[in-house]
Amino acid sequence: MDEKILTIKKKVKKALDNYRYQHTLGVAYTAASLAMRYGEDMERLFLAGILHDCAKNIDNEEKYELCRKYKLDLSDIEKKAPFLIHGKLGAYIAEHEYGVKDKDILNAVRYHTTGRPGMSITEKIIYIADYIEPHRHEAKRLKEIRMEAFTDIDSALRMVLRDSLDFLKGKDRPVDPLTQETYEFYVNQIGKAALP
Ligand code: FE
Ligand code: FE
Repeated sequence: MDEKILTIKKKVKKALDNYRYQHTLGVAYTAASLAMRYGEDMERLFLAGILHDCAKNIDNEEKYELCRKYKLDLSDIEKKAPFLIHGKLGAYIAEHEYGVKDKDILNAVRYHTTGRPGMSITEKIIYIADYIEPHRHEAKRLKEIRMEAFTDIDSALRMVLRDSLDFLKGKDRPVDPLTQETYEFYVNQIGKAALP
């Protein structure tokens, strides 16, 4: 593995609590495995996984403060739901504190909580790896989605998007309109009849 990636991994470990760091390693190794399956660059995907939650353990107050400081625009829902900010803020930190210049990796960090229409393969892999990594156990259909991720990545993506939306709506949790938009974008690509 590239020395730079190992240095970043050590730095991320210091920025996270142990629970979040173990999840982060799970995402990184799952993303690397999906990269092997889909013929993508394993080290790039590993790095994106290592960085995806790098802003997760910052206090909510400080998250808002940093967004002001770095001039990151927040949507109405992000102003109300600090949980949704760590992707956007994480992408900024990955670029400016960890020195990552690869735009595709930065986008994977940025959009890992919501998804977005027209995701790259890197973005899809991180979005899915975040959902299926081995420490995850609560979501329904995890076994099927884990298998589907290594069979048909777009189908797995639709399953994750649909289950995430169902979960959030069922719990009356704030839903970022971008997640709904992303789900519709990927469903429209196949037609609703073919839904898994
Ligand atoms: Fe996250
Ligand atoms: Fe995560």
